[in-house]
Amino acid sequence: MATTTVIKGDKSTKAAVKGRFGAYGGRYVPETLMSALEELEREYDKAKRDRRFQRRLDELLHTYAGRPTALFFARRLTEKLRGAKIYLKREDLLHTGAHKINNCLGQGLLAERMGKRRIIAETGAGQHGVATATVCALLGFECVVYMGTEDMRRQELNVFRMRLLGAEVRGVDSGSRTLKDAINEAMRDWVTNVRNTHYLLGSVLGAHPYPTMVRDFHKVIGREARAQILKAEGKLPAAIIACVGGGSNSIGIFYEFIKDKRVRLIGVEAGGCGDNLGQHAARFHGGSPGVLQGTFSYLLQDVAGQVANTHSVSAGLDYPSIGPEHAALHDSGRAEYVSASDTEALDACTLLARTEGIIPALESAHAVVEVIKRAPRMKKSDIVIVNVSGRGDKDIGILRENLKLDG
Ligand SMILES: *Cc1c(COP(=O)(O)O)cnc(C)c1O
Repeated sequence: MATTTVIKGDKSTKAAVKGRFGAYGGRYVPETLMSALEELEREYDKAKRDRRFQRRLDELLHTYAGRPTALFFARRLTEKLRGAKIYLKREDLLHTGAHKINNCLGQGLLAERMGKRRIIAETGAGQHGVATATVCALLGFECVVYMGTEDMRRQELNVFRMRLLGAEVRGVDSGSRTLKDAINEAMRDWVTNVRNTHYLLGSVLGAHPYPTMVRDFHKVIGREARAQILKAEGKLPAAIIACVGGGSNSIGIFYEFIKDKRVRLIGVEAGGCGDNLGQHAARFHGGSPGVLQGTFSYLLQDVAGQVANTHSVSAGLDYPSIGPEHAALHDSGRAEYVSASDTEALDACTLLARTEGIIPALESAHAVVEVIKRAPRMKKSDIVIVNVSGRGDKDIGILRENLKLDG
């Protein structure tokens, strides 16, 4: 169910309301969850200021996850497009194959600090489930992952991976049997078991403090990229492009550049296979403000406020809502949001594979689509950074079904 309450107030009151990004964000949850969210917020605020916590997280990001990731100059892609100079931020090189491990390690250490040794998570395609199961194995936690049975069928291999890592995968048979249904079920579990359980949410979604906390765990992407580009080129990029599902990899790379007003921030949503409701997951092109799963943001919904079905060839972008901080960046105009279709993403995947020897995740391929469209119209002295949020190994089955390759 969705509502469309808009919180009004002048700038000073907005800034004073924790967990709000302009009018967006907030904490739209049943009262039974409030104490858990307050405890999490309190503990996270303490951990943020605790040097030992930060040091341990930095060390695991370095020795376990593989940070810092490279910023790679894509020479052949740049030459092919004859425009701006293109750099790729290689989050695909991280352990488990995507940026998601940044957040899982952060929240895993936080759970440890709170003395919660049972972790629950939701997963769509299985990528967040695999990263969570990985961190639970590393830290010795019990792990339960909720997954829609339709997604389990589509992503058999990731279900097996999670089980191999020692996690229990619980199928969810309600609704469309996909990601949003898995989140509902995980929230139900959390209400019941909150004393010993931490809910490890996988993107910048949900009630406060999740959107802020998950962003903080990912802002290392932009912090590294900013230092790397200054070192390589001695100047900031003209644009940064990232795909936007819930919005964690994009806010992660955007965040350190928000204050650099001349750097254009461009988010790419899933345009799917058409413009009608149900054919895409482009929340800023067909969505409107509403509440879903604890937060107020842009939402794909029908006139009655019921959440619409979504579609994308990339499971990680296939969600009806978007992180509330993006809603605020969109409304203020600080970031721009465009979309790329399924077929464009498949083509971009092939192009990056053949020009640079990098097979991106289909999610990341949406960002590549935008650089293909935009770079030729930019000056040769301009620099663009594309966030390659993950590697494409998980998508090989879909790529094989969709691309007819001869010879
Ligand atoms: C999950 C995922 C995404 C989408 O999630 P965000 O929170 O929007 O980053 C994008 N790319 C990859 C590789 C993913 O696994």
